[in-house]
Amino acid sequence: MKVLVINAGSSSLKYQMIETDTEEVLAKGLCERIGLDGSKLTHTPENKPQYVEEKDMPTHKTAVKMVLDALVHPEHGVISDTGEISAVGHRVLHGGQYYSDSVIVNDDVKKVIKDCFPLGPLHNPANLIGIEACEDAMPGTPQVAVFDTAFGQSMSPKAYMYAIPYKFYEKYSIRKYGFHGTSHKFVSGRTIKFAELDKNDCKVIVCHLGNGASISASIGGKCVDTSMGLTPLEGLIMGTRSGDVDAAVVQFIADNENLTVDEVLNILNKESGVLGISGVSSDFRDLSAAAADGNERAQIALDAFIYRVAKYIGSYVAAMNGVDAITFTGGIGENDCATRGKICEYLGYLGIKIDEESNKLRGKEMYISTPDSKVKVLVIPTNEELAIARETLELVK
Ligand code: AMP
Repeated sequence: MKVLVINAGSSSLKYQMIETDTEEVLAKGLCERIGLDGSKLTHTPENKPQYVEEKDMPTHKTAVKMVLDALVHPEHGVISDTGEISAVGHRVLHGGQYYSDSVIVNDDVKKVIKDCFPLGPLHNPANLIGIEACEDAMPGTPQVAVFDTAFGQSMSPKAYMYAIPYKFYEKYSIRKYGFHGTSHKFVSGRTIKFAELDKNDCKVIVCHLGNGASISASIGGKCVDTSMGLTPLEGLIMGTRSGDVDAAVVQFIADNENLTVDEVLNILNKESGVLGISGVSSDFRDLSAAAADGNERAQIALDAFIYRVAKYIGSYVAAMNGVDAITFTGGIGENDCATRGKICEYLGYLGIKIDEESNKLRGKEMYISTPDSKVKVLVIPTNEELAIARETLELVK
């Protein structure tokens, strides 16, 4: 079965065509600068040269049409007719409190995605436009919504409630939701299989460390806590997001810099994190190089990032009263051996022992702990597109 996976952003649209029988990626690509000058499609079919088309893309509808044209093109296409696409899986940011699982899109689902616009103002409108563009282009083909917030829906009130007046939860559904849920579910599931853990009550912590970073605690594959909150701003220090800060910082910067709340939040989302501390880069490779050259702020940024991850791991071990496995994923978690090693240096009290040779490897499913480590520590590469294709297949097969 062929499943098209779509991740629509406000001015971009990423896609992958996946053959679910073999889980092979037949083609992937990206539409950039939708609705802006200089829009372009980059289409990368398997075993064929990359194809780039620079053409006006005023709307997501045009972008979807260009993607489908590229997929069926005689030279760089990978299917002969769009009828071969059995279903489309869409990454949708926010499903609010309505969805704890993926769903086939109908009018009710679209209404929920719309009702959640205030909770995901940048992504949900784009996600809905992507769904509607695919419905128009492929009438009758099932569309599936896979929510980034779904995994976090199993948290209990003690984990998701903010200690603010209850009326704000009742009126506006203000609570912790958690994001990167598709990745956390996929990676915790793979961890359970790879490490042969008891699937009903194993305690797993997944550290998704990339430009966006989050951490989850799950028992028996069900999320009990996660670090991102009402929005992806909360939790770990990220590439450009601050993660946890005292909320009074917002007022302090607004008053002293004569900025609006929106402007301060933009700073906390886009100019903070390791970029904000270091002033060098949001990219860990640049930061490590700068720190090695003696840049003090780059070193502080790295140390603060590592310290925050270690603190969250400690708090989740306490929340679950133990842990069986800790897994690293995401661009940093899969590749940055030094950062992984330094996080684990904080975890000796758990009886964790890291195998230095294994920890030098990257990008594949593996243990990095020694066989006698009390807690298993693993690397599991995440694959959100494959996870979306699998969820889609489950619903339509
Ligand atoms: P992601 O958002 O998951 O794509 O992750 C992006 C982050 O992963 C960036 O900070 C990169 O510097 C980091 N990263 C990717 N590859 C490596 C690598 N080989 N060594 C260190 N960091 C890496």
